[in-house]
Amino acid sequence: MYVSTNGTIKLKVPEGSNGVVVKNLYLSCDPYMRNLMKKPITENDDMESIDNPIIGFGVAKVLDSGHPSFKKGDLVWGNTKWEEYSLITNSQFLFKIQHTNVPLSYYTGILGMPGLTAYVGFYEICSPKRGENVFISAASGAVGQLVGQFAKLLGCYVVGSAGSKEKVDLLKNKFKFDEAFNYKEESDLDATLKRYFPEGIDIYFENVGGKMLDAVLLNMRAHGRIAGCGMISQYNLDKPEGVHNLMHLIYKRVRMEGFVVTDYFNLYPKFLEFILPHIAEGKIVYVEDIAEGLESGPSALIGLFSGLNVGKQVVLVARE
Ligand code: NDP
Repeated sequence: MYVSTNGTIKLKVPEGSNGVVVKNLYLSCDPYMRNLMKKPITENDDMESIDNPIIGFGVAKVLDSGHPSFKKGDLVWGNTKWEEYSLITNSQFLFKIQHTNVPLSYYTGILGMPGLTAYVGFYEICSPKRGENVFISAASGAVGQLVGQFAKLLGCYVVGSAGSKEKVDLLKNKFKFDEAFNYKEESDLDATLKRYFPEGIDIYFENVGGKMLDAVLLNMRAHGRIAGCGMISQYNLDKPEGVHNLMHLIYKRVRMEGFVVTDYFNLYPKFLEFILPHIAEGKIVYVEDIAEGLESGPSALIGLFSGLNVGKQVVLVARE
């Protein structure tokens, strides 16, 4: 049982259940959460419902547990709810945090779901080779900043697009992309991509969809790969925009593959083994945008859709 500061009984693990009661510390703002507030696309989709707290990824401390894998005092990351304290009854995506010599908020980003997304999307879906030409959209965000750094580690030529000068500077100076541009200042994206990729694009890491995808299709090289990670430009539209240049997948023999990171959580231990030393040695860096207080959650989440976040958007609910 947990009793809050004003004395009201909040939550307890029901008798005989394997639920876990947690105090939420950090909550993750992720674009997919918008889609869970719309009509389901496939029959397997989870849905947010108006009467319940938003479900999302986060970092939390265990206060009480009926689950054999978690005990009081453990730090965990995974699915929780947008509230101060939660009873988690589905622990399919709940993981004990083993490494605490990094900021705990990293488990919403570089060491959490977006980090694994970047890893799987780049290494598993894009089949990258040394020296290839890589383009990333929404490149300064939670996922994009990591994809670009992974591609640089492999000796690729890396260009990113982002929506402000500040983000373009981050891409070039902090994440060491070869080039970056502000797509909002470009009137002809096809011409822009030709300027940065006169020989074409081998790998496109797709985060935005719409006009950018259409322009990229015109600039892919033969046997290029496109990882369909996300299409944020479409999430707020009632009717998605059409894509006009799909024939170029055929002309250029391009493989475009969508993926959903939850199918790859078995790779999480391998991913941690890879990423932790890179963080420790300063070879991979990570930028976060931390909004303070649960009450700042809604505006932080909505801000993703106009690019207000600079780096991974996190909400700090409480300190340990
Ligand atoms: P970000 O941290 O990159 O935040 C979203 C960014 O998208 C904004 O900062 C903004 O950057 C950009 N953006 C917003 N609206 C538009 C628009 N209309 N057109 C172009 N860009 C826009 O988010 P994440 O890194 O968390 O996610 C990136 C993508 O990856 C999303 O599409 C998301 O759905 C997807 N994703 C997919 C997963 C999977 O399993 N397939 C898992 C996790 C994420 P800017 O200022 O540069 O425009």
